Amino acid sequence: LQLPGPKPIRRLQESLINRIAAGEIIHRPASALKELIENSLDACSTSVRVTVKDGGMKLLQIQDNGSGIRKSDLSILAERFTTSKISTFSDLSQLATYGFRGEALASISHVAHLTVMTKTKSDTCAWKACYEDGTLIPAKAGLTQDPKPCAGNDGTTIIVEDLFYNTPTRLSSLRSSSEEYARILDVMTKYAVHNSAVSFVCKKAGSTSSDLSTPSGSTTEQVIRLLYGHSVAKELIHVTTSSNPSKDEGRQSDGNDEGAMDVDEDQDEQDDPEAWSAEAYMSGASYHAKKTVLLLFINNRLVDSPRIKRSLEATYSSILPKGASPYIYLSLRIDPRSVDVNVHPTKREVHFLNEEKIIERICDAIQEALSGGSRSRVFEYQT
Ligand code: ADP
Ligand code: MG
Repeated sequence: LQLPGPKPIRRLQESLINRIAAGEIIHRPASALKELIENSLDACSTSVRVTVKDGGMKLLQIQDNGSGIRKSDLSILAERFTTSKISTFSDLSQLATYGFRGEALASISHVAHLTVMTKTKSDTCAWKACYEDGTLIPAKAGLTQDPKPCAGNDGTTIIVEDLFYNTPTRLSSLRSSSEEYARILDVMTKYAVHNSAVSFVCKKAGSTSSDLSTPSGSTTEQVIRLLYGHSVAKELIHVTTSSNPSKDEGRQSDGNDEGAMDVDEDQDEQDDPEAWSAEAYMSGASYHAKKTVLLLFINNRLVDSPRIKRSLEATYSSILPKGASPYIYLSLRIDPRSVDVNVHPTKREVHFLNEEKIIERICDAIQEALSGGSRSRVFEYQT
């Protein structure tokens, strides 16, 4: 038997390479939305309004009231690796923003029609720009490539249309519009809880009523009540713990915190790359869900961690009847120097130093709070 000779190696077309790369980051409408929400939060928005058509496949529009984008930056906005968030390698270890790769808008422009309308405070009008394959395109052939002036409020509106129009396999891997819409609502719900002071609204295009709406300036508990219902909210136990529990001592919660942890670190902690703190709002012994609801944020990023989920479920298994599951919103802050967020393009997977030890400490704190009964709503964990 004769083996066939090797086939020649060919260079892929540039546009194909870009589409493949974009698919690594933008899997579905909800992953595009996650990137766009993070951009709005990075821009210090207090209002994020999302409009969706056909599960986000036809239209995904996100309007914020943040800083806006300077007109002079619009020409390179959708190029790969253009970002306002880091400039040197060492910045990566002190990351305070969600974004840093400058890849989201570029990726979206390779797999969808992208339009940006934006206005900074000092602009006298808004500017509109359309992008394709990483570059600014004229709105109509024959016009100049410059962004066009238009009416608009301070902030940015990003319009994503016909997602995956040029990648049919990706398109066919999507579920029904209603399932994709459910994922969009899920992402928004979680970000709304974690950013309770920010107003989030999500609705279908053409509909007068919204499917998700939170007022600005809410507390974490208010948003949980609004989005997950009274049955969860009335059960909530609030736990805070950290690498330095003596600092938590005496810290009282009036159940009215802003949700953001006030880690007003002293000098010692700032110098300790292993310092961490955690805050959780979670259900008590008499709340029984069918499936675990876990909202896990590490340094403000929504992430997945099957390991943390398993550990939390194990902690609850001693107090919940068989088959019952908890509700847990856990926000973990770790010194950026000990987190490696750069492991995966979607940034969903995060690894950090002393992972096992930290998880164990958090579970201990939760265990202690749970066994204390659910009458007292606030627990401070001390060693
Ligand atoms: P990254 O977030 O990693 O920097 P993106 O592609 O998501 O990359 O965004 C590129 C740049 O566009 C950002 O660094 C930011 O300067 C700007 N930008 C994107 N979205 C917004 C927004 N909603 N408001 C203000 N600026 C934005
Ligand atoms: Mg971004």
